[in-house]
Amino acid sequence: MDCPKCDTWNPDDKNVCWRCQTELPKPVEKKPRKPMSFLGLPRWAWAALAVMLILWTAAQCFAPALVGGR
Ligand SMILES: [Zn+2]
Repeated sequence: MDCPKCDTWNPDDKNVCWRCQTELPKPVEKKPRKPMSFLGLPRWAWAALAVMLILWTAAQCFAPALVGGR
């Protein structure tokens, strides 16, 4: 990274500038944000699907006439 004071390039693992001894800012570690999705669908979509599946299954069990069963 470049020294903020003298613009000299320093290796990333250096804490101070080799030229002017200025303390170098630590490189910001970019934490890769985990995408809140699974198989291309966001979590809430899966939750909605699960709820719908549960409701549909329950409807099948308790009210077959409502979902076109027997
Ligand atoms: Zn420097």
